[in-house]
Amino acid sequence: DACTSKSCITHQKFAMALYEQSVCRSCGASSDPLPFTELVHYVSTTALCQQVLEKRDERFGELLQAASTVGDLRNCPSNCGQRIKIRRVLMNSPEIVTIGFVWDSEQSDLTEDVIRSLGPHLNLSGLFYRVTDERAKKSELLLVGMICYSSRHYCAFTYHTKSSKWVFFDDATVKEVRLDFRVI
Ligand SMILES: [Zn+2]
Ligand SMILES: [Zn+2]
Repeated sequence: DACTSKSCITHQKFAMALYEQSVCRSCGASSDPLPFTELVHYVSTTALCQQVLEKRDERFGELLQAASTVGDLRNCPSNCGQRIKIRRVLMNSPEIVTIGFVWDSEQSDLTEDVIRSLGPHLNLSGLFYRVTDERAKKSELLLVGMICYSSRHYCAFTYHTKSSKWVFFDDATVKEVRLDFRVI
């Protein structure tokens, strides 16, 4: 689970150390915190698009948190009858955060809505119920890459910080994107 190997770049750079817990507002009972490690934070695109409609002015991190907790109700740990939301708490300050969008809508194509919801900045304190690490509280991450998959094919966009340009990678094709981020 928690990999502490000094030679493991994946865990050093990407791992989010989290715990989840449910706390009942009505009777005060709380479940035992369940620690786990996450490399990719998955969010349903259907839930995300619903949140975009409901909370128009919310920032990207808060939208993602709302989308990943909506509908995920648990029974009160002392069974008082209350249904409660799960709380996810981040304990470290990951250098890189990967958000995985789950394309779970069969009826409609949400691609454009999802792209519109993307924010170039991500606050870790918005993404989780609580953040305990001081660095993580202040950390604002910048969108630097997107990996896209469709029709059994991968392509990627990455941001080249030195030249402040987006670059598109598709097999042997590598081109500079001469458009603003919003347009991508
Ligand atoms: Zn590892
Ligand atoms: Zn309760």
